[in-house]
Amino acid sequence: MGNTETVLIVGAGPGGMEAARAVADLGKRAILVEAKGEIGGTPYSSYATLTPDLQETEEAMGHIVRGIHQNPAIDLRLNTRVVKSEGEVGAFHVTLESEDSTQTVVEVGSIIVATGFQHFDPGRETQMYGYYEYDDVITLVDAERMFKSGAIVRPSNGEAPERVAFIQCVGSRDRQIGNQYCSKVCCGIASKQSIEIKRMLPNAKVFIFYIDMRMYGFWEDQIYWKAQEEYKVNYVRGIVTEVIRKGDKLLIKGEDTTMGRPMEVLMDMVILSVGMEPSKGVDSHVIEPLEALLFSCCRAAPGRQIFFRGIRPPRLSFARRCAVVVSKDGDHGRR
Ligand SMILES: Cc1cc2nc3c(=O)[nH]c(=O)nc-3n(C[C@H](O)[C@H](O)[C@H](O)COP(=O)(O)OP(=O)(O)OC[C@H]3O[C@@H](n4cnc5c(N)ncnc54)[C@H](O)[C@@H]3O)c2cc1C
Ligand code: SF4
Repeated sequence: MGNTETVLIVGAGPGGMEAARAVADLGKRAILVEAKGEIGGTPYSSYATLTPDLQETEEAMGHIVRGIHQNPAIDLRLNTRVVKSEGEVGAFHVTLESEDSTQTVVEVGSIIVATGFQHFDPGRETQMYGYYEYDDVITLVDAERMFKSGAIVRPSNGEAPERVAFIQCVGSRDRQIGNQYCSKVCCGIASKQSIEIKRMLPNAKVFIFYIDMRMYGFWEDQIYWKAQEEYKVNYVRGIVTEVIRKGDKLLIKGEDTTMGRPMEVLMDMVILSVGMEPSKGVDSHVIEPLEALLFSCCRAAPGRQIFFRGIRPPRLSFARRCAVVVSKDGDHGRR
């Protein structure tokens, strides 16, 4: 006998939390499993403020997180992973393991995989930006930590930078490393951070080097034009090929593709707009045990970064690939 009244959700980031809330709103019971000791996912643990309003993350997401903790229809299991799963759609038997190695079997009718993403490692392969060589080359995530601490400084000397450059599409839209997709958020986040830098350091010059700017949702009006018009952020269409040290500065080399000529510019600090890759949790702990159950979903061919592929998929969009649903009627889809 299955338990179609209960849904298992793996991962308690924004995707998993929203899924759990929706399941509870439908009058069903949700078992929400999170590998870490807190819910909220990557934004809650890593980012200081969020688009589109530059609101502090804890304030912006606090009510969602509290809603999960307070909802009696949501059975939250922290520090827990899926280790085994059997059964069929409508009647899954899933073994969960908590950090003290206690195992529990839950009976669920549906499973939602919402294991999210991880940030691209900018030290990998073709990346010539010196992330692991130069202190003053940081990522969007490192910059968020600085915003949280209340100061933007050059890690090399603790001084405020006078010239800051963002390099877009680091780890995304790069066929050489097999990440052909656009991560969809980094143009908006770089623009958001450029505004934050200008607010903290009004005299700093801030540049964004981009292939093309891809602002999704409402961010264009709220962030992109604001950054240019109100905060005088310089958007430069160009391809950066290399970052090297010159004295105590960083020299950015590349091509200004609007002017069609080589460019070399000195900066105090470089921020790499790292993209997203599928969460490690997908490979190690979720999909392997669930693979037999996700019979109609499969991972993409090696080297191609697609989270899940359905049997009759609509056009998959990267930002939407984080959750796969196996529902009781055997249909499946994205959320
Ligand atoms: C630099 C950057 C800045 C961003 N800033 C913003 C912003 O300002 N505003 C905005 O709206 N969006 C922003 N985003 C996008 C936002 O972070 C994502 O859209 C969102 O985090 C996706 O939520 P998710 O739940 O799918 O994944 P995640 O947030 O990655 O959450 C996945 C959860 O699953 C858990 N998990 C993973 N594997 C397992 C497992 N095996 N078992 C159990 N649990 C597991 C993880 O611990 C995590 O808690 C930003 C993204 C980046 C890269
Ligand atoms: S959102 Fe912008 S920076 Fe990110 S991959 Fe797409 S185009 Fe590149």
